[in-house]
Amino acid sequence: MPCKPSSSKVRALAQLHAQIRRCDRCPLHRTRTQAVPGVGSAHAEIIFVGEAPGRREDLKGEPFVGAAGKFLDELLASIGLSRDEVYITNVVKSRPVSGPPPGRNRAPSPDEIVACVPWLTQQLQLIRPRLVVTLGRIALEHFLPGRKITEVHGRPQAVDGVTVLPLYHPAMALYRRDWTAILKRDFRTIARLTRKEPQRGRRIPQSRT
Ligand code: SF4
Repeated sequence: MPCKPSSSKVRALAQLHAQIRRCDRCPLHRTRTQAVPGVGSAHAEIIFVGEAPGRREDLKGEPFVGAAGKFLDELLASIGLSRDEVYITNVVKSRPVSGPPPGRNRAPSPDEIVACVPWLTQQLQLIRPRLVVTLGRIALEHFLPGRKITEVHGRPQAVDGVTVLPLYHPAMALYRRDWTAILKRDFRTIARLTRKEPQRGRRIPQSRT
């Protein structure tokens, strides 16, 4: 039986994930539990791009778990979306860590970003989203070098024929009430750009610990 084009795209993404899990292009492969390629649909119209896996993500093999991940799920639900309908990944796929095990999460170095970005490029070329949503500073710097999140958050930007929407990182927003409110408001821009209306009566918790 001939393969459907859609299933070949799903298989291609699975193969790409397998390649990322075997990747040893930078020293982070020595300290990770596992690489974290991404999660979601190969047919997603929206890709969310964060910074790098933290400890929880490294253990589970999935991006955005823990409190920040729950908050992201709630933000998605507030505009009628679920993880299954979008694709979520990071600029860097293995956990940047410092100190003795289990170590502290840290921002990826420029060398680590350069080594890992080709994977993100392949993900974007395969999925071909309508909208790329950057979460936090590292992803913003990759798509819009030199721009400040305080100036561009919530404002769609055209980058190489794709719409890029810069947003604050959910993990940071959890600790700043003003950023939490901004992130909630900016998420409605996603709904507007993709013509998804926010669910009426859906509440997002004000804060969490
Ligand atoms: S961070 Fe990226 S480049 Fe480095 S080992 Fe992991 S997958 Fe490979």
